[in-house]
Amino acid sequence: MFRSIRWKILLPFALLIILAMSLLGILLSNYVRQIYLEDLEDKQTAEALLIAEALKLAEVPTGIMIDLDDAASEWAKVLDARITIIAADGRVTGESHEDRAKMTNHLDRPEVQLAKAKGSGSSIRFSHTVGYHMMYTAIATYQDGQLSGFVRMAVPLNKIENKIYTLQMVITISILIFTLLAILLSIVISFRISQPLRELTRAVKGIFPGETVSTDMQYKGDEIAQLTHSFNAMSRQIETQIGEIESERARLASVLEKMTDGVLIVDEVGRVQLINPAAETMFGWHSGPVKGIPLVEVTQDYQSVELFRKCAQSGNSQSAKFELGNQKIHLQAAATQLGQSLPGYILLLFQDISRQVHVDNMRRDFISNVSHELRTPLAGIKALTETLQDGALEDPPAARRFLERIENEVDSLNLMVAELLELSRIESGKVPLEIIKTTVVDIIQPAFNRLHIQAERSEIEMDIDCPDNLPEILADANRLQQVIVNLLHNAIKYTPKGGKIILSARLVDQFVEFMVKDTGKGIPASDLPRIFERFYKIDRSRSSSGTGLGLAIARHLVDAHKGRIWAESEVGRGSIFRFTIPIA
Ligand code: ADP
Repeated sequence: MFRSIRWKILLPFALLIILAMSLLGILLSNYVRQIYLEDLEDKQTAEALLIAEALKLAEVPTGIMIDLDDAASEWAKVLDARITIIAADGRVTGESHEDRAKMTNHLDRPEVQLAKAKGSGSSIRFSHTVGYHMMYTAIATYQDGQLSGFVRMAVPLNKIENKIYTLQMVITISILIFTLLAILLSIVISFRISQPLRELTRAVKGIFPGETVSTDMQYKGDEIAQLTHSFNAMSRQIETQIGEIESERARLASVLEKMTDGVLIVDEVGRVQLINPAAETMFGWHSGPVKGIPLVEVTQDYQSVELFRKCAQSGNSQSAKFELGNQKIHLQAAATQLGQSLPGYILLLFQDISRQVHVDNMRRDFISNVSHELRTPLAGIKALTETLQDGALEDPPAARRFLERIENEVDSLNLMVAELLELSRIESGKVPLEIIKTTVVDIIQPAFNRLHIQAERSEIEMDIDCPDNLPEILADANRLQQVIVNLLHNAIKYTPKGGKIILSARLVDQFVEFMVKDTGKGIPASDLPRIFERFYKIDRSRSSSGTGLGLAIARHLVDAHKGRIWAESEVGRGSIFRFTIPIA
């Protein structure tokens, strides 16, 4: 408690005030007493001179003793004092209060000695006779320049002492009051001085950035006000800086949040310090805060740990490509030391390249498929031309047969090239669709008509089931006809004699759903998800039956109409192909 600045100011001040006031009190009361006594001495001297003058002591011849007791008593009554008249040799010649016979020679009395030496003198002594202090004042009387005797006055000091005591009491009380007031004042001053300091301390302890301390008008311009101002300025500066840091952090956090690449920051011993949502998703981390958890626990993947380890050991950036086993995600990963900004920390960056890998795989498949598909008809043509060269030309009917077969192979090559071209044009968006309001019948009927004969030839029954009241759809009629033709074409191709195909359409929510249903051989469930891929054929050995591009084209065209295409099938019982197109 006494350590506070308030007490540090207050205590010395209070002590100083008490000390100064006590000293002042003592000095003052002594001084007053002195003045009183001096006054009294002067008065007694004057009175003694008066008595001497009145008694004409000067005229009493030296050596002649006369009784002056009565005169002394008279004057004593008038002046209310004890009066002693002493001869020049010290014998008492007149006494107002005591029995003169018992009185000894008075020449040795200090006041008499002083009077003898200087003309007057006084002395204060305790009187055993009366029981209190008395003041004795004596003057010397002269005759013709010769000492003729002394007049001595004596008054008790108790009256004066009483007066002095009262005065001292007044002084003491006023000093006490002043001391109290001074202490109160220093309490107030010390409180007011320490008040802003306490506020400063509270604000600093609280560390509420931006909190300021009010400056008292009284301290305007003094050190405390300056300190307070400086503190307030510092507080505001800290607030601004914290604000900047906060917004910087928020920006960084939102960048990390929105990034599609996974980011991890790992400390030197391999504990994760930061992870962004993309990385959480990649590694399937759903267990809350990640700080301090080992990398291997977070990623559950040895390859990322290996990458981290290599980077930590070599001090150089490392990169690697790998597949996350359980998630089937292909990652391009990089590890970099964060250097001076965070010594020992390593930044791990993961980019999901699954799509790119998928595209690469598709391209590879595509090239091998195309070469494979081209090789078969080309090999056929080559064999036929060799047979012709080897002598079949000499046999005109056989030569014609071979030429027909060459023509067939060239046709299928043409078809494939045309379909490939078409597909690549659709995929690259180079086929502008003319999407307009179209009736469903305008799409279904022409497609049905185009394949009706072919179905009849294959002895397959083909029907349309389409209500009249269907709303118009948004479509490029020619392109949608092509989709239906492709589906019908497949249905005819994969349905045996005596089978049945139904082409229908119906309204489902905001879409018209088209359906091609056959009673053909069906599609195995394992193949169903893949039949819309380019070159995907279920029975690869029956290569001549198609290119594997028809459904891929159909899917692209339906996608371009913002619709959806899918298939359902049961092996041996038939297949159903459906696709939706939004209504106008
Ligand atoms: P393709 O030109 O070979 O018919 P598609 O892309 O049109 O190529 O079809 C891909 C594969 O899907 C075909 O090879 C075939 O095995 C299967 N398929 C398509 N439609 C049917 C269907 N209606 N019934 C049975 N299988 C079908």
